Amino acid sequence: MEITFTGKRALVTGAGKGIGRATALALARGGAEVTAVTRTKADLESLVQECPSINPVCVDLANWGATETALKNVGPIDLLVNNAGCAKLQSFFEITEDEFDISFNVNVKAALHVAQIVGRGMKARGRGGSIVNVSSQAAQCAVKDHAVYCATKGALDMLTRVMALELGPHQIRVNSVNPTVVMTDMGKIGWSDPVKAKTMMSRIPLGKFAEVEDVVNSILFLLSDKSAMTNGVTLPIDGGFLAC
Ligand code: NDP
Repeated sequence: MEITFTGKRALVTGAGKGIGRATALALARGGAEVTAVTRTKADLESLVQECPSINPVCVDLANWGATETALKNVGPIDLLVNNAGCAKLQSFFEITEDEFDISFNVNVKAALHVAQIVGRGMKARGRGGSIVNVSSQAAQCAVKDHAVYCATKGALDMLTRVMALELGPHQIRVNSVNPTVVMTDMGKIGWSDPVKAKTMMSRIPLGKFAEVEDVVNSILFLLSDKSAMTNGVTLPIDGGFLAC
């Protein structure tokens, strides 16, 4: 199955590292005009060096006002990947207000806000669009020391469903991908300890973590016309973890 994005304009958040960066590069390779949004300038510089056609936008998505300003002139977008996310691991009684707020600001509020900004244009142009929210298996299964992270991703899944309901009539599809552990910088925070990693892996029927490409391929499918009738799903990329 060949997927191409020629003539499409895509915006990927959290495109400096990990899954977001690989998604931005894959979309550019597939022919899309890509806007890459992240907060570390050096990551954007190296991304543009790797793929000069990418349009870089540097902003802290936790800041609502700064995001509004940074994306004001981003132009029409057909495909959005809300990928930026953070994971602050804390046991339940250690959770602070600051950590709670930062996580919800980035993982939920920014996804909603960027989708509002981009979605308004999609609706006005009347040509539809596709939005993919990068959620997690942690949206649907309790993980120790992940109370806030699990809560943000659970909220994001519900946001996906309501957006699918409200934006569907405008032919804007909204879906989530829900990966298991991927050994990116974020993945390493929680799962570098071999004992923890082994315990998690033993609960995954395929017996392994996901690769970045596994997640990117599902994102590309959900962005593309190959999933034209798929709207409001939360797609596990978890080797069967959530099935058990
Ligand atoms: P990485 O930490 O490798 O990359 C995250 C990217 O998001 C970075 O470029 C980071 O920039 C950016 N970002 C974070 N906060 C902000 C912010 N406030 N404003 C702008 N950009 C920001 O993570 P992954 O690639 O692993 O994760 C991508 C998504 O996948 C996340 O939503 C995550 O929750 C989800 N996920 C990850 C899993 C994993 O095991 N890795 C499993 C399941 C889901 P900077 O480095 O400058 O902070």
